Amino acid sequence: MAYESELALGLTPYVAGEQPKDRQFIKLNTNENPYPPSPRVQEALAGLAPSLRLYPDMEATALREAIAQVNGVRPEQVFCGNGSDEVLAFAFAAFFAGKTLRAPEVTYSFYPVYAQLFGVHYATVPLRADYTVDVDGLMQDGPVALANPNAPTGIFLPMEAIRRMAAHCRAHDAVLLVDEAYAAFAPETAVPLLREYDNLLIVRTFSKSHSLAGMRVGYAMGHPRLVDALRRIRDAFNSYPLDRLAQAAATAAILDTGYTDRCTARVIAAREETRQTLLAAGITVLPSATNFLFVKADPADAGPVQRALREEGILVRHFSAEKLRPWLRVSMGTEEEMRRVAGALVRLIRK
Ligand code: PMP
Repeated sequence: MAYESELALGLTPYVAGEQPKDRQFIKLNTNENPYPPSPRVQEALAGLAPSLRLYPDMEATALREAIAQVNGVRPEQVFCGNGSDEVLAFAFAAFFAGKTLRAPEVTYSFYPVYAQLFGVHYATVPLRADYTVDVDGLMQDGPVALANPNAPTGIFLPMEAIRRMAAHCRAHDAVLLVDEAYAAFAPETAVPLLREYDNLLIVRTFSKSHSLAGMRVGYAMGHPRLVDALRRIRDAFNSYPLDRLAQAAATAAILDTGYTDRCTARVIAAREETRQTLLAAGITVLPSATNFLFVKADPADAGPVQRALREEGILVRHFSAEKLRPWLRVSMGTEEEMRRVAGALVRLIRK
């Protein structure tokens, strides 16, 4: 006997990137945005303290309307949660529990954890030799989840591939979940497909594109029937996932599209400049449609390079999974920071 449930003891929890408290780093290990949120966020938050006496709007109405407006969908197609991690968790419970879910072998490492938590049979499909997602391999007889662009590779699948998967899943009465955490940095999104496929669920976050990782806001877009299922799970768990500050901040942030576009353009410029510098030095770097680069830092294990960067005040992410061990995931900082980081990588990586 133990105090803990078998569930608690049996889980292999997700391990998030370090949030250091000891010193100032160029912090490129959790894909945060290097720029602050829109100044309108600060304005929206001012004076809200007295209202915190009251529970928030559980349907996040103003935020859902703003998200709908910016994405060209209807508010009843939008569901909001406490970070996209929570939205993903609700989606696993709502659409995958008790079923076999297929996902790329290399993708967001939270998916297998949610699968374990919610009794989902999680079946993985290896990436192809060029690190792209094996679309045909994923198309079997049940639901599919993938990040597009994928993480931590950064590689992007065009909309036509998503369409094929949505149609295939539809024919098997199954949901296709596309995690678009990084879509703001990619050439296109699957949102136009929502008009055609009632089994497509697109999940987004405010953490990267809108510089609100500290606020914890994510959302899903899909057919109202899918949104209703997410709501059922929410109301079986926590009716108020988004507090008043988060709703106000996210609403202000998403409506300031000009600011977001300017920050996104700078992140993309830093990404392309950094990638070119590394390629010119003979370093292998995957093409990226995200706010990070996946850099091959060692033939076998990039751990020593990660630690050497840390000594120089630069934090990047290294994954322990066998296939990912030669690589480092480097989030984009400011252009100035990235020149320093690219210099350090060129110096430290053995070619
Ligand atoms: N999806 C992917 C692919 C991610 O990389 C992340 C960031 N760790 C998330 C979802 C979660 O983002 P958040 O919970 O901050 O919205």
